[in-house]
Amino acid sequence: MQTEMVHNLSYVNGNLQEFISYLDTYYIAQKQGAVIATVNPEIGYAAAKDKGYHQVISSADFVLPDGIGVVLMSRLTQHPLKSRIAGFDVFLSLLGLANRQSKKIFLYGAKQDVLDAVLNRISKEYPHIEVVGASNGYEADKRFVAKQISRAKPDIVFVALGYPHQEQFIYENKHLFPQAVSIGLGGSLDVFSGTVKRAPRWMIKTNLEWLYRLVTNPWRWKRMLNIPKYAFTVLRDNKSNKSLYSKQAEDQTKQL
Ligand code: UDP
Repeated sequence: MQTEMVHNLSYVNGNLQEFISYLDTYYIAQKQGAVIATVNPEIGYAAAKDKGYHQVISSADFVLPDGIGVVLMSRLTQHPLKSRIAGFDVFLSLLGLANRQSKKIFLYGAKQDVLDAVLNRISKEYPHIEVVGASNGYEADKRFVAKQISRAKPDIVFVALGYPHQEQFIYENKHLFPQAVSIGLGGSLDVFSGTVKRAPRWMIKTNLEWLYRLVTNPWRWKRMLNIPKYAFTVLRDNKSNKSLYSKQAEDQTKQL
């Protein structure tokens, strides 16, 4: 799968369908495990600030641009990303795929009532999926859940604990479920259960989903300040890299 670097992370450069079909052919069909990280500007900024978290994200097999901010920032590079690949859409596509192929899934995260609603919807709309385990994200000890996943041997593990916990959980425990494709989903289970509404289609299409989240969850405003901070960091580093490269080019020309 083609990738492009945006501020020290290598993102999948393609659309949702291309990504799912690649994942299916080379990983799910081969029972080959993979880790998928869905990165929005908040996560990108956290990774830029924290080396440990950067290591966690960059060790994923696939880093997806789950935020228009990442795509916009990529336009500063010579090879911009073609499209955003939203975690929620990947979740729906993987459920569809798991249903068609009667795959086993494990769900970890969200509140118990949300999880119950998710399980209910999956059993109705995706009847061929075998749910081999589910744990809410509040009660059980993380190590206990990791062992449960290991024993259940799912094909796909959905982890919805919010960042950075979900990425950290997968990073620390992926060796216990090497055959599985694992993905961090943020608030996707809340949306899928109907507890939280996703932005209207026109807002998603016009890249305003972030604004919808801000208006409907005003408590997020502090967290969302990380979006302009991310933009500033990328712009600043891009500029200093450019000046570093042009200085190197100038030096090389002088040497010639
Ligand atoms: N969550 C959880 N356990 C926790 C904290 C959060 O399971 O200890 C869940 C929460 O119920 C929600 C998701 O993690 O379903 C986080 O959603 P959010 O939209 O905040 O994701 P983020 O933007 O932080 O990735």
